[in-house]
Amino acid sequence: MFENLSERLSGVFDRLTKQGALSDEDVKTALREVRVALLEADVSLPVARDFVKAVQDKATGQAVTRSITPGQQVVKIVHDELVHVLAGDPEADPGKLKIDNPPAPILMVGLQGSGKTTTTAKLAKRLKEKEGKRVLMASLDVNRPAAMEQLQILGTQIGVDTLPIVKGEDPVQIAKRAKTQASMGGYDVYMLDTAGRLHIDQELIAQAAAVRDVANPRETLLVVDGLTGQDAVNVATEFDDKIGVSGVVLTRMDGDGRGGAALSMRAITGKPIKFVGLGEKMDAIETFEPERIAGRILG
Ligand code: GDP
Repeated sequence: MFENLSERLSGVFDRLTKQGALSDEDVKTALREVRVALLEADVSLPVARDFVKAVQDKATGQAVTRSITPGQQVVKIVHDELVHVLAGDPEADPGKLKIDNPPAPILMVGLQGSGKTTTTAKLAKRLKEKEGKRVLMASLDVNRPAAMEQLQILGTQIGVDTLPIVKGEDPVQIAKRAKTQASMGGYDVYMLDTAGRLHIDQELIAQAAAVRDVANPRETLLVVDGLTGQDAVNVATEFDDKIGVSGVVLTRMDGDGRGGAALSMRAITGKPIKFVGLGEKMDAIETFEPERIAGRILG
């Protein structure tokens, strides 16, 4: 997930820990390399800059450089700062979705190809298996019958019900029908998989906003492709401005992407990453745990 970044950082820190005594200048040089490594991982510039400054403020001065293991102290400070930038709100449990008061609507939004339909099914499976919830999934992508069928196929595969497809309905009508069926059928959660497009445009936003207004979702989860780096963060900013997002799912984190989106997301958008997608299979999803991610980055 963070192979390149991780390799670069371990190179820097290996040298630092082997060095024994450290001067402030040694720490500064190492942190300059950390900054370059972050930028190469496509972390946005202000985030990389603030990150290095925060570490520098804590790592220079007598306490660290005069300690017995100064290199390890620096690594610890970097670790803690990574957790801080990834987490934002340490109280929040990223894997917990707000699904009290059944049936709880979850709105899934994102660009076409981001992995939205796959993620909808993965989360439905997770809710069913880990939390014992009854879930109903509905596709609102009226322009792409194949997308509707895809959700139905995934539903059959994972044993989660999908709303029957009725031709000629618009997304708002489908959302209303999903709500009725979820209430009458005793479901705990209903998930609305909205239409995606290749770019954010007026129609996409208008449609998602209309659905949001009728469904009044407990969670609006934005699915973004983690391979797209800073673009993923820009997409999140725009969706949040226009529709309001409660959390982000970063997909394709199994790829050799540069991982920068994970580090910039919270700082730039203020929105937590709740899950990461790690493959095409229905179990390939994990909650986003800052401690674990920081551990992976530091190798
Ligand atoms: P949508 O257009 O946003 O609904 O995207 P889909 O859910 O149809 O996903 C597009 C492609 O990405 C499919 O081939 C998925 O199997 C694949 N995909 C989705 N999530 C992941 C992921 O986390 N990792 C990998 N490697 N592939 C994924």
